[in-house]
Parts: sequence; structure tokens; C-alpha cells
Amino acid sequence: MSDSVAKRAIDKIYDAISQTTEEYVFISDLRLGTFRYPPQMVEEFGLPGEIVENAMDLWCEKIHEKDRDLFIKSMEDMRSGKTSSRDIQYRARNVHGEWIWLRCRGSMIEDENGEPNVYVGTITNMSHFDRSDHVTGLPNRFEAEHRVEKLIGNGSKEPLGLLVLGLDNFRRVNDFYNRAFGDRVLCRASQQIQQLLPEGTGLYRFDGDEFLAVFRDCSTAQIYTFYHALQERYSVPQEIEGNRYEVTISGGYAQYPRDGLGFQELIKRAVYCLEFAKAEGKNQIVLFSNKVMELKERRLDLTEELRLRVEGNFEGFEMYYQPLFGAQEEKIVGAEALMRFSSERFGQVPPVEFIPLLEESGLIGRAGEWIFETSVAAAREMNDILPGFTMHINVSWLQFERHDFLSWLIQKKREGFWDGCNIVVELTESSISSNYSRIRDVLHTLHEIGLKVAMDDFGTGYSSLGLLKSVPVNIVKIDRSFIVNMQESIFDVTFVEFIVKLCHAMGITVCQEGVESREQEEELRDKHLEFYQGFYFGKPMNREAFLDICRKGKQDNEV
Ligand code: C2E
Ligand code: CA
Ligand code: CA
Repeated sequence: MSDSVAKRAIDKIYDAISQTTEEYVFISDLRLGTFRYPPQMVEEFGLPGEIVENAMDLWCEKIHEKDRDLFIKSMEDMRSGKTSSRDIQYRARNVHGEWIWLRCRGSMIEDENGEPNVYVGTITNMSHFDRSDHVTGLPNRFEAEHRVEKLIGNGSKEPLGLLVLGLDNFRRVNDFYNRAFGDRVLCRASQQIQQLLPEGTGLYRFDGDEFLAVFRDCSTAQIYTFYHALQERYSVPQEIEGNRYEVTISGGYAQYPRDGLGFQELIKRAVYCLEFAKAEGKNQIVLFSNKVMELKERRLDLTEELRLRVEGNFEGFEMYYQPLFGAQEEKIVGAEALMRFSSERFGQVPPVEFIPLLEESGLIGRAGEWIFETSVAAAREMNDILPGFTMHINVSWLQFERHDFLSWLIQKKREGFWDGCNIVVELTESSISSNYSRIRDVLHTLHEIGLKVAMDDFGTGYSSLGLLKSVPVNIVKIDRSFIVNMQESIFDVTFVEFIVKLCHAMGITVCQEGVESREQEEELRDKHLEFYQGFYFGKPMNREAFLDICRKGKQDNEV
């Protein structure tokens, strides 16, 4: 039998075994350090794929520090031939940040020379057997599945309502305090939800920051009454032992038998609804309907189309540039690069729709590099016409967190990619405040490689003004919403004045976004901001159109 035939046969056997057991079956080539894991394990632990090279290093990082030595020693014992099998228990962190107890049993197969060669075995995820959640004490999702299937299993006609509740912005709590505090927040939430639930409604810890409530009496009025009481409860800041935090709760709801017949189908639909509630601005409940399904399908189809284009040559994508107007200079001093996408099937798709899809699908990694490359190339041309020109480029935090954008930038810097150009990276205020503990290192490195940083959409997040003191940004962009009401709202006028003063005291320059009229521009005149941006000064336009206005600006100056 040739090697490749043998390999295919092994793959088939592997697939067959791993599909028929709840355990994670793994197989590894110890000499290469390559492991193959089943898809369920890849998903639960966020592994890069089913085949993982250098798997030991990666896996060790996920293991609890108290268990790591035991794990490494048992592996060494096998590698060195001291033992030929192992049976150990240890904890590893899953994608939701939970510690999962695992039992790993495996054996070594030696090659013809008696050298350790192939290592095979199973990993048992103990949480599948343990039916309660350690953090909240609630029954977990396996127990939920078990109980719901029991209720609907024999074709019951009784309706059953599944409401998935998700804490909005829970990551921010975890990041700002720590995981232990996050656990207490979850625990508190589970108690508060339970207090408000009608009698006879089961509550389960579902996933990470999500809970599942199973309603026996599921009139729409009942669901709304409960949800609104919960919303009310969370409309004010919460506190645990003097530590304040703000979260809201979103909900997604599907009902048996109307919206689905099995637990998995119902849950899937309730989770779609939750996704929509969050995508539409959070702090709301969405009930399953055909519209939700259609929107979900559109998202899936659009993601597929985006994938084809990103993995192809970016056909359909284009960068537009919107002028940044210097208040002192009274002319265009830079631009913000804004991505556009259109296709035959979907027409023009707004960035607020496609950027989140690029992020969720992981495509933002490659797309972010393309955005940066294209915008820097344009900056170079614009700089040739208007020396000192600055290009602002939007970057999503996920690019740093998941796609190693920082290393990519460091490499590009070595190549002198943006030498001679002024480049500003825009990060939103909320991404900066949600990743408070990691952001400073990232910003520090950006400064080191000669990039400036702007805090985008300032004033829309929940961040405290203290953020301006502790994170080193060069520019603050005040969100459009403040200019909209400025003529009527004393608060908004005072906010802008105050922010400008505060920023200037910190050496930060300020830009007002979304200036649409001469009245607004006049209103801003005595506030001493450095830059303005908005339709009044120019809409986003393609590269050629922008180069034209740069040339025109240059001529005007020379006259
Ligand atoms: P943003 O970064 O806050 O970009 C400014 C948005 O405000 C742009 O919307 C711009 O067209 C719009 N805008 C500018 N002036 C005015 C005005 O006077 N009035 C009004 N009503 N709107 C104005 P756009 O291009 O639709 O982009 C929306 C968002 O999508 C951006 O908000 C940004 O968060 C995201 N985005 C766009 N391009 C990129 C990109 O290349 N990368 C990333 N990560 N995000 C992007
Ligand atoms: Ca921006
Ligand atoms: Ca903005």
C-alpha cells in the first residue's frame, strides 16, 4: 500500500471514530509535533484548525498553570520512552474563557526501530458529563438539551419558549476588572434573572455570557413582561462590593413547535435572534420570524461573496477618501480612508453592514492589510501634491487581537512602506476601552514604528474621561452625534468645549466629525479644534476625484 493510500485510509478511520463518540479523538505524529484534532475540539478551544503543527506549544498555553507541569512531564515521559501510555486530568481554557476539566488517555505506537512515533488517544470533556455550571451553580446547556428534548421528545403539542439572554459588553467587565470579578458578575446576573422569571421557568447557563430560560407558559406578553423587567433592572449601573460596572442584556427567542421541532434547531434560531438584537444596537429582544431568517441568509450569502472577493483580488472593494479640513490652515490637510463594497448581486453594501461580517468571518485579517496597503499608496500620491498630507486609516481591534496586524505592520515598517507619509490609525473609543489592559502595549508599538493614533467616535462609549490620561492617543475625533444637537443642546456645546480643553492640556489634537452645514461650522469656530470632517467640507470620494481636489487645492494656494 502506498503512503498516500495508507494515509487516506487512516483519515477515514479517524473521521469514522471521531464522529461516533462524544470524546475528542486525537492522533499525532510525535516526530513532527503535528496533531490532528476533531472539529468539536477545534471549536470548543479555538484551535487554528484540525491539523495543528507545533501543537504542544499552542496547547500548553491553554492549560491551567497549575496543571501545566504535570502535562509536560507526562508528555516527556512518553517521548523519551519511559512510559508508553498516559492517563491524566488537567484543566484547559475554552473559547469562552472557562476552565474545562479534561481527561486525556493516550498510547504511544513505536516505529520499526522501537522509537516513539505515533501518539493516539481520546480526551474526555468532563463538562459534558458534569451537568452543572461551576460559576453560577445553574444546570448547564447539556442539561438544558436533555430536559428540553424530554419535554418535546414524544411529539408534544404543548408550546415551549426558549429565550437566550446575552450580557452585552461583558468582555469589557472582564477586561477592566478580571475574570474572577467577571464570574461574580455572571453569578449575580443568574440570581437576578432567576428572581424575575415566572415560576416554573428553567434557567441554564448556556455559553460564556449567555443564559437560557425555558418558558412553559410562553404567551408573547409573558416573555415581554419578563424581558422588560430585566431590562429595567439593568438600566442603572450595577455594583459589587464598591466596584461599578455597566451591562445591558439582549435576548433572542424561539418557540416550539412554531419555530422549530428539535432543541438544536430552536436554539440555533434563538441565537440568530440574539445576534440580531446585538447587531441592531443591543439592549433589546428579538423574536424569531421569517425576517430574521431572511436576514440571516443574507448575512451568510454576503459573507460568502465577501470571502470570494477577499480571497480573490478584492474585486468590488474600493477605498474612498473623505477630506479632513485644517481649521487653522483653512484647507484640506488629510483624508480618512473609508472602504466601499459593491457587487452585482448585492449592489452597494454599506460598511456598517459588511465590516462586521469581515470581522466575524476572520476576513478582516487579509482585508485590513489590503485597506492599509491601498490607503498608504494613495497617501503617497496625495502627499506629492499636498506636502504634509495625513491619511487616517480605520483599523478594527480584531486585526490586532486575532490577525497579528502588529507584526505585519512592524515588517512593513522595516520595508519602509510608509516612509515620508503621515499615517494615523483610527481605533474606536469603545474598542480602546474594552481592551484596556492590552491596548497600551499596542499603542506604544504603533508610536515606536512611527504611526499616530486617533480615538474614533469619541463620546459614544462608556469610557471615563480618565481614558484620555492613561492611553496615549494623538488625536480625538468627537462623534457626529454631538454636532447634530449642538445648536439646541447646552450639554453638547459644553461637552465639546470641555473635551477640547482637556485634550489640549494633554497635547492631544481634536477633530469634529460629521460637520454638515455652514451653521455648524460657525458654531465650532470659537472652540479651537484643529480639524473638521463632514459633508460640508467634502463627502467620501474615490481616489481620482480626491486627487483632483488636491490638485485644485494646490492651485488655489498658489494663486
Ligand atoms: P467612521 O470611522 O466613524 O467613519 C465616518 C463615517 O461617517 C463614514 O461612514 C462617513 O461617510 C460618515 N460621514 C462623514 N461625514 C459625515 C456627515 O457630515 N454626515 C453624516 N451623516 N455622515 C458622515 P461610512 O463610510 O459609511 O463608514 C461607516 C463606518 O464603517 C466607519 O465609521 C467605520 O467604523 C467603518 N469603516 C469604514 N471603512 C472602514 C475600513 O476601511 N476599515 C474599518 N475597520 N472600518 C471601516
Ligand atoms: Ca473613523
Ligand atoms: Ca467616527
